[in-house]
Order: sequence, then C-alpha cells, then structure tokens
Amino acid sequence: MYMVQMGRPESTIERQERPMRHSTRVVIVGAGGAGSATAVAVARAAPEVEVIVLGAEGRAPYNRTTVNKGLLSGAVDDAGVALPGMDGLGIDWRTATVARSLHAAGPAVELADGRWLGADVVVLATGAPPRGPCPPPSRRACPTGS
Ligand SMILES: Cc1cc2nc3c(=O)[nH]c(=O)nc-3n(C[C@H](O)[C@H](O)[C@H](O)COP(=O)(O)OP(=O)(O)OC[C@H]3O[C@@H](n4cnc5c(N)ncnc54)[C@H](O)[C@@H]3O)c2cc1C
Repeated sequence: MYMVQMGRPESTIERQERPMRHSTRVVIVGAGGAGSATAVAVARAAPEVEVIVLGAEGRAPYNRTTVNKGLLSGAVDDAGVALPGMDGLGIDWRTATVARSLHAAGPAVELADGRWLGADVVVLATGAPPRGPCPPPSRRACPTGS
C-alpha cells in the first residue's frame, strides 16, 4: 500500500462539491482488505474527514480469505464474506469505480470516465497479482501470469 500526501488540491481540478462539515478529503484507491481497513481506521479516528473509497469491483468489499474457506464449500453464504464494521461511519464507498491515473502534485485521481477527484490525501491500496515459483529447476519467482 502506498500513500501520497500533498497540499490541498487546486479548485481547478476539483469536480465535486465538498460537504461543509469536511475540511479534509482522503481518497483511497482499492476496496480490498487494506483499503477498507484504512478507510475504517481514518473514519473512526477522524470523523470530520471525508473518506471516499474507489473500488473496481461491482460489489461491497469482502473478506477474500473466506471465499475458499467457506463460500465455495457452502459453509457461509454471500453475506458471510462481507467485511464487518464498515457501516455507519459515513464512508463514501464507490463500487465499480476505477481509477485511471494519479496526479500526485494535485493531488487528484482521474477516474475511468475522465472525471477528476481532488483530495488532500490519496492512499493507493490496489493490491498486487500473485507470483508463484517457476517449475524446477528454477526456484526464481515467475513473472506474473506464468
Ligand atoms: C481466495 C483467496 C483466499 C485467500 N486466503 C488467504 C489466507 O488464508 N491468508 C492470507 O494471509 N491471505 C489470503 N489471501 C490473500 C489475501 O486475500 C490478500 O493478501 C489480500 O486480499 C490483499 O489485500 P489488498 O487490499 O492489499 O489487495 P486486494 O485484496 O487485491 O484489493 C485490491 C483492490 O483494489 C482494487 N483496484 C485495483 N486497481 C484499481 C483501480 N485502478 N481503481 C479502483 N480499484 C482498483 C481491486 O479491484 C481490489 O478490490 C487469499 C486470497 C484469495 C483470493
């Protein structure tokens, strides 16, 4: 997870009205475990901060480790993989919302539809694809997709 923290965004890049009660906006890119935990921690510690989470997936954040340890076997249902404790904190969860680029000097995040989202702090929590070992005799990690 990477965090880019810069000065306040210029109004030229801001495309959305900021509610009056929020003096600071944190935009978190990635709605996996890391992004979700970060959002909850910030919202709990600083309720006055506006927290926006951008997630590429079209559903609420979920616990991936439960998928192969319960969901596939039928031991838990879809609701059972939901991450707990995320409601009621005023977090702006934006599903099916892909970030296309980061303007670090803004800072601001460009969305896939071309809109820009200004922020005071941007947290990059986009995860990483897994890498497995190459087949013998090489013990090096194979490139992604191998
Ligand atoms: C089936 C399964 C079982 C697992 N079991 C275990 C286990 O038992 N123990 C263990 O330690 N680990 C386990 N893992 C691994 C663990 O789930 C990962 O280490 C963890 O999910 C990583 O969390 P993350 O938030 O860093 O990344 P991710 O979970 O990968 O989340 C990143 C999120 O960012 C989003 N994203 C990426 N790019 C963009 C973008 N440009 N714009 C918007 N959103 C974007 C992605 O859609 C994704 O939702 C398991 C993983 C899986 C899939």
